[in-house]
Amino acid sequence: MPLPGWNPLASVLQTVAAFSRHLLIAPEAGPDDHRLRPLLSLSLSPPSPPPPPPEVPKEKDAKAAPLTKEEVGRATWMLLHTIAAQFPDEPTRQQKRDAKELMHIISRLYPCKECADHFKEVLKANPVQAGSQAEFSQWLCYVHNVVNRRIVGKVRSRGQKEEN
Ligand SMILES: Cc1cc2nc3c(=O)[nH]c(=O)nc-3n(C[C@H](O)[C@H](O)[C@H](O)COP(=O)(O)OP(=O)(O)OC[C@H]3O[C@@H](n4cnc5c(N)ncnc54)[C@H](O)[C@@H]3O)c2cc1C
Repeated sequence: MPLPGWNPLASVLQTVAAFSRHLLIAPEAGPDDHRLRPLLSLSLSPPSPPPPPPEVPKEKDAKAAPLTKEEVGRATWMLLHTIAAQFPDEPTRQQKRDAKELMHIISRLYPCKECADHFKEVLKANPVQAGSQAEFSQWLCYVHNVVNRRIVGKVRSRGQKEEN
């Protein structure tokens, strides 16, 4: 009857450990050298504790910071000017309706209430013109300038550099 804790393979495993220390891993390594741990831990020593889990940010930190009004504005204008630049020269009736609807949806859902309310007025005074690519782009540039003027008096005409 073997003694409790006696491992019938202990002498074999000790031989393998000594062998690996000299030939495979690092000849100069002492018994506590970390480079030996994976091999030795299989047999001679209790498994080393697992590394601590990576720190998980708390719920409120995990949420991305909300965008600023400027960042949302820039991203929105970029999207709108890109859509206008790609708008067909001869849009279908549906495409004209879509362009108009898009601008009205923005005036209702834009995530800055003050901006959205102002943009509703801008659309009322300047109904969407989307009869062609050129018309839609020029109209968008015009209303973008109306918004610019409201903010810091910055105005841009097509092909010009921004005036601040
Ligand atoms: C529908 C809408 C309404 C907004 N209303 C308000 C508001 O009431 N108050 C407020 O504080 N902010 C408002 N904003 C945000 C504001 O318009 C700007 O986006 C924000 O101030 C950042 O300005 P910016 O100088 O980075 O350039 P943006 O005005 O965001 O423009 C982005 C880029 O477009 C180019 N650009 C600028 N003007 C024109 C133009 N006329 N035609 C073509 N390209 C141009 C320039 O390269 C510029 O860097 C609104 C945004 C949108 C989309």
